[in-house]
Amino acid sequence: MTTALRPAPDERVARTSRAPTPHQLFCLRCQLTFDAAPQALCSTCLGPVQPVYAHDALPSREQLERRPRTLWRYAEWLPFAEPPVVAQHVGFTPLVEAPRLAHELGVARVWIKNDSVSHPSLSFKDRVVATALNAAHAFGLTTVGCASTGNLANAVAAAAAAAGLPAWIFVPADLEPAKIVGTTVYGPHLVRVRGTYDDVNRLCSQLADRFEWGIVNVNLRAYYGEGSKTVGFEIVDQLGWRFPSAVIAPMAGGSLVTKLHKAFAEFARAGLADGAQPRIYGAQANGCAPLVRFVQSNSRALTPERPHTIARSLAIGNPADALTARAAIQQSGGWAHAVTDDELVVGIRRLAETSGVFTETAGGVTVAAAYALAQQGRLTPSDEVVLCITGNGLKTTDAVASALEAVPEIAPRLSAVEALVAATT
Ligand SMILES: *Cc1c(COP(=O)(O)O)cnc(C)c1O
Ligand SMILES: [Zn+2]
Repeated sequence: MTTALRPAPDERVARTSRAPTPHQLFCLRCQLTFDAAPQALCSTCLGPVQPVYAHDALPSREQLERRPRTLWRYAEWLPFAEPPVVAQHVGFTPLVEAPRLAHELGVARVWIKNDSVSHPSLSFKDRVVATALNAAHAFGLTTVGCASTGNLANAVAAAAAAAGLPAWIFVPADLEPAKIVGTTVYGPHLVRVRGTYDDVNRLCSQLADRFEWGIVNVNLRAYYGEGSKTVGFEIVDQLGWRFPSAVIAPMAGGSLVTKLHKAFAEFARAGLADGAQPRIYGAQANGCAPLVRFVQSNSRALTPERPHTIARSLAIGNPADALTARAAIQQSGGWAHAVTDDELVVGIRRLAETSGVFTETAGGVTVAAAYALAQQGRLTPSDEVVLCITGNGLKTTDAVASALEAVPEIAPRLSAVEALVAATT
């Protein structure tokens, strides 16, 4: 199954002079180099391809700090030679310290990398869409699309609407209502497919070949993945150009953990941060944890799973970046952990109650994994930990609603409140 799709020159929409030129690609497996193209796999060996960076002069910390607070401030490590033409305002989400959570976990410090407030669609997927849509633009692919577990659908629909591009978006038919509404509101062609995410993804591979579409996580995946690196760049930048000792992130297809590792290595190589790079911990829900089991078992190939969890945004049974995700975690000295659905609901509540951040199920997975890793002694009292909170709680309210206390209803009378206050003391 190759997703190679190179539009014949006569079918191509003329490149505008402002279009960014994507970097060339090289194959991670056989090292062959290719011209920039909407192609996620090597046409020779079917290995994954990545953009080539030919760095001569790199900016200093001071130069970087003077740039706009978006993910494009790290342009030298993103796969275009020119400035972006779409999705210019994405990135630079808050990194907020969470001392009460640090106390509970028994570690020195904790920060939340808060992509639950990402512009424009309230998840980390805005980052990967930013790089993929600029690649689509450069390739003259004027229709974009994705296979999505929800957040990517929101992000593609929002960015495509702002850029004036038609979008074809495919999701599993039984997705959460908030993620359907949060996609349709932008006016894309949204299609609910009877099947799992993996069925949807397979369909989208065929669509990329059949139509001349830029499917962000299929034929544009090489450019999409580079957007994930910006989480790591921002963590280092926002900590004052240093590394935390550990980072915990949720895993779906495995792009985020893979690219966190790459980002830290790139900033270390550029001399922008010194010392040991962080241990990377990957988290999934028990009901769909093929990557966790792959890391823990060390078996040769990943065993695909059929998802059954409320963490729908992470429910990918056959993750695309399994090998690179495992390598990233192992090389960093980290580990992987899966939590139950009950634990992830507790994780959502603990984050909200200790830090004032309301995350969706994926963030609950991350927080619950942090508690478990602390319990196992994998996080220690001297650790400085960043939790990647990748999505917004208002998208998955059903996951916690039934676990929360009933809200009292009263008559508008002082005595009614007095009774309530008395009952709490
Ligand atoms: C997609 C997603 C992730 C991680 O996805 P990868 O495919 O592993 O990069 C994490 N959290 C949320 C909320 C997501 O939507
Ligand atoms: Zn190859």
